[in-house]
Amino acid sequence: MKIYLPEVRQREGQFATYTFAGKIPAGFGPDPGSPGRLQVKADIRINGDKVFLEGVLSADIMANCSRCLKEYARHLEVDFKETFTLQGMPGPGENPGPAALAAEAANQLIVYGDYLYLEEYFRQVFLLGLGYRSLCRENCQGICPLCGIDLNHGSCDCTPEERIDPRLKALKDFCPRS
Ligand SMILES: [Zn+2]
Ligand SMILES: [Zn+2]
Repeated sequence: MKIYLPEVRQREGQFATYTFAGKIPAGFGPDPGSPGRLQVKADIRINGDKVFLEGVLSADIMANCSRCLKEYARHLEVDFKETFTLQGMPGPGENPGPAALAAEAANQLIVYGDYLYLEEYFRQVFLLGLGYRSLCRENCQGICPLCGIDLNHGSCDCTPEERIDPRLKALKDFCPRS
């Protein structure tokens, strides 16, 4: 996922459109083993030393519902918009390699030399799109913390009082009764 900037610069001021499609790169997380597809459509424009990037990242992944823990197919669509500042080209005798690698290791968005490297930036956009929790549907009922039944598909006789957080319940059981 990199863009060759001289090509964009040729039409300075105008947007050029780039698309990437393929497997979700390893390291995007949070579950690198899960299959999924990523598609990015990006418009890019250079003006002076600024690079303007905007577009949509979409992904189809298998996710686990944070309430009922079931795996489900999830579709993500995230808009992004970013401005990068171009760094000077490396001078004669300078080696851009280690500096670029160090910047990438530090999770910086790098525009070094002729290429705009976007994998780290898109990884952040992707994680932002995943959000804090993932629900198989908005009104997922989750599982009963006591008997483990999936409340979307059945009910149990556990009372709401009994369904307190099992971790708290363990604490309560340890407390000496007065
Ligand atoms: Zn669910
Ligand atoms: Zn129950």
